Amino acid sequence: MRIVYHDVVIVGSGLAGLRAAVEIAGKHDVAVLSKLHPLRSHSGAAQGGISAALGNAGEDSPLWHAYDTVKGSDFLADQYAVEVMCNDAPRAIIELEHMGVPFSRLESGRIAQRPFGGHTSNYGRAPVRRTCYAADRTGHVCLNTLYEQSLLRNVSFYAEYQVLDLCMSDGAVNGVVATDLKTGEIMIFHARSVVLATGGYGKAWKTTSNAFANTGDGLGIALDNGIPLQDMEFVQFHPTGLYQLGILITEAARGEGGILRNGEGERFMERYAPSIKDLAPRDIVSRSIYEELRYGRGAGPLKDHVLLDLTGLSKKAIAEKLPEIESFAKTYLGVDPVQAPIPVQPTCHYAMGGIPSDVNGRVTRDSEGSEVSGLWAIGEVACVSVHGANRLGSNSLLDLIVFGRRAGKDINRYLDRVCLAPLPLDIGRGLQAVRQVDALKRRRTGETVHQIRSDLQRVMMEYVSVFRDEEGLKKAVGDITLLQERAARLKVVDQGRVFNTELLEAIELQHMVNYSKAVAVAALERKESRGAHSRDDYPKRDDGSWLRHSLYYFEKGGGYRYEQKPVDLSLASRYSMFVPKERKY
Ligand SMILES: Cc1cc2nc3c(=O)[nH]c(=O)nc-3n(C[C@H](O)[C@H](O)[C@H](O)COP(=O)(O)OP(=O)(O)OC[C@H]3O[C@@H](n4cnc5c(N)ncnc54)[C@H](O)[C@@H]3O)c2cc1C
Repeated sequence: MRIVYHDVVIVGSGLAGLRAAVEIAGKHDVAVLSKLHPLRSHSGAAQGGISAALGNAGEDSPLWHAYDTVKGSDFLADQYAVEVMCNDAPRAIIELEHMGVPFSRLESGRIAQRPFGGHTSNYGRAPVRRTCYAADRTGHVCLNTLYEQSLLRNVSFYAEYQVLDLCMSDGAVNGVVATDLKTGEIMIFHARSVVLATGGYGKAWKTTSNAFANTGDGLGIALDNGIPLQDMEFVQFHPTGLYQLGILITEAARGEGGILRNGEGERFMERYAPSIKDLAPRDIVSRSIYEELRYGRGAGPLKDHVLLDLTGLSKKAIAEKLPEIESFAKTYLGVDPVQAPIPVQPTCHYAMGGIPSDVNGRVTRDSEGSEVSGLWAIGEVACVSVHGANRLGSNSLLDLIVFGRRAGKDINRYLDRVCLAPLPLDIGRGLQAVRQVDALKRRRTGETVHQIRSDLQRVMMEYVSVFRDEEGLKKAVGDITLLQERAARLKVVDQGRVFNTELLEAIELQHMVNYSKAVAVAALERKESRGAHSRDDYPKRDDGSWLRHSLYYFEKGGGYRYEQKPVDLSLASRYSMFVPKERKY
């Protein structure tokens, strides 16, 4: 088996992975592995922007930003981590600017900022312009800039390598098993430290804004290795996906003045969030849309969607600030947003939960915070947790940049002082992967990936989306358990080695059924409504019993274990407004 050595192996070339790579390059030998070409990572699809209290377009402060983030999270975010992120945000943006990110500008030449949902001044008084952007292509320009910077610093890239497993030695992670998509060869990357930056997992739902590759591989690999997943019940539905397609229409459309209307033309958000209306956090807006539909006030003949009205904006403003949105609406729905409102519906968008990690990206394995040596997790696959039960728009790109850099610095220290030589490699995991792939290819009976995946997407959409209840969640857990069994017996028709995408999708599906079970179980266990987790049978938030993070462990043979972990309330001990209370907007 071919073995390649690098000091650091980063799995994933989205913004989180690349930001860490840029920090490490030049100090240690770093490789980035990605199942896609780096510039195809989902970060490149981010539209609306990245938040930071720069105060370029009105007074602002990192503490106000932290308050909004904690309140937006429905008080489940770890407050120290939020403080770290919001304090570092202005510096991180200027650093990106110096690296070459072409942000949109104000007349004064400073970086332009726009309002986004849940971002306010003065602890909730009024919307604030906090989100920095480059038209509606913010992720695209950030990803291109960081890729360029990585190439300049000689980061080694392995594009189109899919990681299958971790290598471990005495409980410490010291490499990964990967397959080269071009040849089908399975090989090992031996390393002193490994970073998982594999992004989100929206593909388990039928309607999603996520890319095809967002299959949560990092989460599945963590579960397989005894590492728990935290707060998996919190899955964000973005209020404005294109009707029937789920393709995202950025919240910036509302930040720039777009208004949501029901089928009767009414601006319904006035009813649900009287002070900030359409700019309420996403969990609230998505629920409000479903309430309107429940009351029969939807738009169109089926009354199954609402309308995003941009007709109050000028043609010039749309062309300059929302050019991609204009072209999506025209291309996919034949609607010109200058003339007519865009049909929209909530779409599965973002995972607040993930692999538990601390503010330096170190993965932890239990409620005490014990580390998994040699392993870091950053970006959407990780749960730091800065987003708690609901993420504010434009806080994810910030999370990637801030914690990507911090993980990079932490790894540099770890390699300089702690792990001075690579731990001996056990190639057992590599051989196991070869056997598994062979067995998959040899199987002649069983269902195809497509059948099982579409059943999974239907179950998640029906029972584990915006509104949940005991009966539906129990059904989901049962159905997913059967799907796990079906996925373990599926067959792969394509026997080729070169770009065998069917085989790779079969492997991704194993991860999908496993993390989906974590989502359904954690949602069934949490008997309250908080942030994006809304239970019809437990409509109230219950801090007494549930101001806790959840931890889900996968046990071999299909079983699982569920535990809890306390929430860090360190800002509340200094500032009274951070003490959990009812959210009002
Ligand atoms: C349409 C859309 C618009 C968004 N807009 C915004 C916005 O305006 N502002 C904001 O803050 N957030 C936004 N978000 C959220 C944000 O973009 C994501 O949370 C973020 O980009 C995730 O970045 P990441 O680096 O963690 O992972 P990604 O960018 O998703 O990258 C994951 C990487 O992991 C690799 N990978 C995965 N599995 C494997 C494997 N098994 N082997 C090898 N490589 C693997 C992939 O190839 C890829 O390189 C948006 C999300 C979407 C979907």
